[in-house]
Amino acid sequence: MIATFDNLQKKHPCFAVGAKNNKGRVHLPVSPGCNLFCNFCRRDFNTTEHRPGVAWGIITPEEAVEVVRKAVALCPELTVAGVAGPGDPLATPHALNTFRLLKPEFPGLIKCLSTNGLLLPDRATELMEIGIDSLTVTVNAVDPDLQTRICAGLIYHGRRYTGRAAAELLIHNQLAGIEKLAAAGTTVKVNTVLIPEINAGHVPVVAKTVAAHGAKVLNIIPLLPQHKLSWCSAPGCDLIRQARAAASPPSPTAET
Ligand code: SF4
Repeated sequence: MIATFDNLQKKHPCFAVGAKNNKGRVHLPVSPGCNLFCNFCRRDFNTTEHRPGVAWGIITPEEAVEVVRKAVALCPELTVAGVAGPGDPLATPHALNTFRLLKPEFPGLIKCLSTNGLLLPDRATELMEIGIDSLTVTVNAVDPDLQTRICAGLIYHGRRYTGRAAAELLIHNQLAGIEKLAAAGTTVKVNTVLIPEINAGHVPVVAKTVAAHGAKVLNIIPLLPQHKLSWCSAPGCDLIRQARAAASPPSPTAET
């Protein structure tokens, strides 16, 4: 049985309210490849940089199980095992194989997976069978014109797509996948990278659209300007606050 949203709020540090300090999560870097070409992403393997897209190395699913064994022994408060990269966890089979291995030995551990969503409709049944409790999908735009400025292209079923065709395919698959998993009871969180020069005014539309497809939480992440988006600015606290306020559903009006 997968964890409910209420359960995640008690046990998952990304959702927990007031309980972040006594719950732990381990990230398992088992997924080497990616099928998107995001303009802000420069993936690398090294031991010197600490930024999104960089990992020290890749481990196998079997090594990941050993890491979890050691982590649980060191930190019994560990409640979550997550796979978020360094590539896309659905682009190669390693993430799902890792969860398949972990499930019988650690049935109580929350299984958390982050994806760009391109392969969600293809993998939805497997994700449900494995019992992924918490799914994060990065959706930066639901307007193809904006999406083409954020992601240069993608590879889908062995074919390369660019421009509007890539943007439309990605958005379609993300929303269809979110809807399918959410309808099956998986808690879906959406990450949106806030890019001041491209999608700042569009975040409320993303919020409304993904909520209509079943997403429970929107997490707005500031852009780290690099790679082909190094010309963009990093959003400051004020802009992030404004984007969060604009994306929040209106508070219920008090009855007078
Ligand atoms: Fe990088 Fe993630 Fe985009 Fe892949 S989906 S290119 S790993 S940011």
